[in-house]
Amino acid sequence: MKKPHIVILGAGYGGLVTTKKLEKLLRSGEATVTLINKHSYHYITTQLHKIGVGTAPDRKIALSIPELVNDSKTRFMTGTVTNVNAESQVVFLESGEEISYDYLVIALGFEVATFGIPGIKEHAFGIRSFRSSKAIYHQITKQLTLYKEDHDPSRLTFAVAGGGFTGIEMLGELAEGLPKLCEEHGVPFENVKIIGIEAAESLIPFFGDELIAYTSHIMESYNIDIFTSTKIKSCTENAVQLENGLEIPCRTLIWSCGVKANSLLERFGLPLVKGKLPVDKNLLVKGTENIFCIGDCALFMKDEKTALPPTAQVAMQEADVCGKNLTALIRGENLKAFEYHHKGSVASIGDRTAVGKVGSFTMSGWFAAIMKRVIENRYLFVLGGPSLILKQTLLLKREQL
Ligand code: FAD
Ligand code: NAD
Repeated sequence: MKKPHIVILGAGYGGLVTTKKLEKLLRSGEATVTLINKHSYHYITTQLHKIGVGTAPDRKIALSIPELVNDSKTRFMTGTVTNVNAESQVVFLESGEEISYDYLVIALGFEVATFGIPGIKEHAFGIRSFRSSKAIYHQITKQLTLYKEDHDPSRLTFAVAGGGFTGIEMLGELAEGLPKLCEEHGVPFENVKIIGIEAAESLIPFFGDELIAYTSHIMESYNIDIFTSTKIKSCTENAVQLENGLEIPCRTLIWSCGVKANSLLERFGLPLVKGKLPVDKNLLVKGTENIFCIGDCALFMKDEKTALPPTAQVAMQEADVCGKNLTALIRGENLKAFEYHHKGSVASIGDRTAVGKVGSFTMSGWFAAIMKRVIENRYLFVLGGPSLILKQTLLLKREQL
């Protein structure tokens, strides 16, 4: 009998953890598994802001996928997915290749949401992938280099739009990383301005007053100018226009005002809600029997009104159940209903401090920063066990010498 073919699209948090789960669960000969990803590396999205400022070595954030998967159990293909035909059960790649599947997992992640605001797509920098974060790094170093020639102060103004988790992590990283970059480029750091712009009344508006006050205090101690209740209206190559009529001369606007599902989903001919694929309790795309969707592409309703947020934590928990349900489908067993267990959230502000909440327990400062590292190491453990943690730690130590 022909072995069923499972095809997983995207090797981010959802796709890679599903792959690792299947490597553990499937018995030899039960199915063939193909993992397809745009690049041959998996990036640790939760630390991409570090690539933007050059505060972490590339190899710590971009991990080789062939080294993470077991090639006797998973066939890895580098390829860009361009479409899926759910009726004929085929995935189309940019290379012209067509891959047939029996079971499909869609885990193609997120895109930066620009809300159609004029100039953002063309001139602002999003934190989306390893490459987009590298583009931020190149923009910063280019502006430092050019400043030495023309002394234009707009080159030394670095603005971050959005004061959610991504925004505060980026601001913290800029505050800690820019002094070193300035020194390397012979530019006085005193001339640099770091600005945070948030539409809501405070940074991290979804956290309680205590953590909001702590975060604002840290921003102040870093001399970061925070504009709250301030919405960005548009941007050009050398300025940001605010809804209150003010204009900030600035060559680098880092856009972290939210995310949406990968717009590639629009081509698949499957019904979308808010740009995402609605999934049932077992994570199957509604109306299908062999297509799972997980992570930022999936719309999973926690209750009638609330959808799960686009986080790595959600994607990983979904991946665990997706792996179990694929195995169950192949074996003709009952599927497991997905239940999300929120374990808390921690956001770093540079390397030394962080803010977080686990249940009703709030944390800030160095303790929260350590918790953030524990969470990151736990992820490495899921991907490659203790040896990957050790390898990554040694890598960092070597780069610091
Ligand atoms: P992704 O991890 O985005 O993976 C999608 C994969 O699909 C990528 O490898 C991509 O290259 C690939 N892909 C895309 N298009 C194609 C294509 N056409 N063909 C082939 N491959 C393709 N969440 C947390 O829970 N904790 C955090 O601390 C945290 N920190 C974050 C920090 C930042 C700066 C950002 C931007 C997000 C953070 N998040 C965090 C959110 C988290 O990163 C996402 O929710 C998570 O990555 C979603 O996982 P995913 O598998 O759905 O997609
Ligand atoms: P977000 O949606 O959480 O925050 C975006 C912020 O931008 C909001 O505060 C919003 O008010 C603001 N904003 C929107 N439009 C604006 C405008 N025109 N001008 C000024 N401000 C504007 O998005 P995010 O921070 O990119 O996070 C995306 C997802 O990734 C979330 O689910 C988040 O929880 C997750 N994430 C988690 C972590 C972590 O756990 N450490 C870190 C980063 C991201």
